[in-house]
Amino acid sequence: MQPILKIDLTRGVSEPWQIPAKWQEQYLGGASLAARILYNSLTRELEPFSPQAPLLYLTGPLTGTLGPSVGRFVVCGKSPLTGIWAESNCGGFWGAELRFTGYDGLWITGKSEKPVYLWVNDGRVEIRDASLLWGGETYATQEAVKTELGDPRARVLVIGPAAERGVLFAGMFCDHGRTAGRTGLGAVMGSKNLKAIAVRGSGKPPLAEPERYAVARARANRDLKEDNQAQVLHDLGTSGVADYSEYIGAMPVKYYHRGSFPEVDKISGSTMAETILVGKSACHGCVIACGRVVELETGKRQKGPEYETVEIFGPNLLHADLRAVTRLGDLCDRYGFDTISAGNTIGLAFHLFEMGIITEKDTDGLTLAWGDGKVIEELVHKIGRQEGIGVLLGKGSRIFGRHFGAEEEAVQVNGLEVACHDPRGASGMALTYATSPRGACHNQSDYFFVDWGHSLPELGIEAFDRHGGSEKSASVALHQNWRTINNALVMCHFAVIPSESVVELVNAAGGWKMTLADLLSAGERGWNLKRAINIRLGLTGADDRLPKALLEPVPDGNSAGFVPDFAAMLSAYYQARGWDPVTGKPTLERMNALGMPEIASDLWA
Ligand code: SF4
Repeated sequence: MQPILKIDLTRGVSEPWQIPAKWQEQYLGGASLAARILYNSLTRELEPFSPQAPLLYLTGPLTGTLGPSVGRFVVCGKSPLTGIWAESNCGGFWGAELRFTGYDGLWITGKSEKPVYLWVNDGRVEIRDASLLWGGETYATQEAVKTELGDPRARVLVIGPAAERGVLFAGMFCDHGRTAGRTGLGAVMGSKNLKAIAVRGSGKPPLAEPERYAVARARANRDLKEDNQAQVLHDLGTSGVADYSEYIGAMPVKYYHRGSFPEVDKISGSTMAETILVGKSACHGCVIACGRVVELETGKRQKGPEYETVEIFGPNLLHADLRAVTRLGDLCDRYGFDTISAGNTIGLAFHLFEMGIITEKDTDGLTLAWGDGKVIEELVHKIGRQEGIGVLLGKGSRIFGRHFGAEEEAVQVNGLEVACHDPRGASGMALTYATSPRGACHNQSDYFFVDWGHSLPELGIEAFDRHGGSEKSASVALHQNWRTINNALVMCHFAVIPSESVVELVNAAGGWKMTLADLLSAGERGWNLKRAINIRLGLTGADDRLPKALLEPVPDGNSAGFVPDFAAMLSAYYQARGWDPVTGKPTLERMNALGMPEIASDLWA
């Protein structure tokens, strides 16, 4: 594997650092390996906005190859939004290009005195002045950096004004609207006065057995092209599933207080395809191309919204205007913040307004009437500019709710806003949200797909009734382990390929001799390591919980009256995981069996 580059912005120095080979084999790469590298740095005392706070950008062993949907990277650290483990996964071309420079990652600490950007060009690194770029929106900043460097093929990862202003769910952006959106690490980048990171390389990612890899890669891509889900994603984008999600009552409607949205066809992926869609976009080497290119005005192409953005600014706010939702997603991208956290927190504001807990006095005179697109847009601007009520909205739903004495109304887990897959429509998501290492996250396990019937029998991941209970807990844990492997390889979750293909790709790339069982152990190891970090950061078993709204039945739709049997599910889940039922810690026996004795002894010291 290639070294990673350590950069101290306070001193303006950098040096290569080789990741221990043992860690690579145990954790593979991406988010799991990042957790191992950052393990000693992430303490309870560490302030996410302090110069000491690390930001680790890491690729996986397949990144930059032409493998199945593997052109991605992760950025990890301590979240300013949640105070716990932060990881955010991003597509586009930046991760692949970083590997072409001869580095597998960047480990950034310190804080520059003035705004800067980094230029990593084939192994050389420069810290350059970004004073003129500061304040710029995300697309314009990427172009400005390329122009200044005189290199239109440089790949540029940037933050927007929201990150500079400390919005706690600010993200990082590259290419055609690809986003490391969740957990607020863009704000950490802003706190370091780091506006952008440009990369350009002419190397190739190292492969232990290139010929063997080429055969495995070609087969996997062929399988992927034939996969039904991949074809739907290509044709309809991620919001192609909107209709079905609404049909089963798994879509957030009226801030998770209703179960059906009869106007769903106005905002679905099919409607997008028949109205504003003019093209598709892909991340590096991906044969699926789920990205949308749309035209709201003739001749003016822009990114189209994906599922989460459509739902959170659509049905979640009783707003059925696809063009307006597209504009809202674009505004969030340009200011540079996460659409899920933004739309969710705005939903909370509407909900509290309806309850009479907040009034026009709190909202800068705005009447928060459900479905009012103008008001929603005004609130997005206020978050981006950090004006008026936008200051509080920019701190996320937990702090917003707490400020008004209504924290229990916020639909979040451990500070991260719940995404758009309601556990009352697909009950496995109850465990997914409650136990995810970064708060309510659908990317640590998109178990709703399993609840829809997509089982993975060779992994022991079974599809139970979508309203099932504790019988599915062990299956959820296995699915989380599998997705932890995805997040370590930084392989897109949409790349549904046979598990033996994944094993073959990993072994051919890394020169390992892993079995499927070894790979699943690596996933479980990564999951438990992040758990250990969060316990050190202050979480306990009591934090494995769901917000109030998700434990109350919705009145309408095809999941009306149902709530997951959460307590029983969690108890069975702990048993399947080998976690101590009192403390919520992974047991010594389990950690030792996974080959993590040093982490286990810290955890139980
Ligand atoms: S499926 Fe979509 S998000 Fe995943 S790698 Fe391909 S283009 Fe990117």
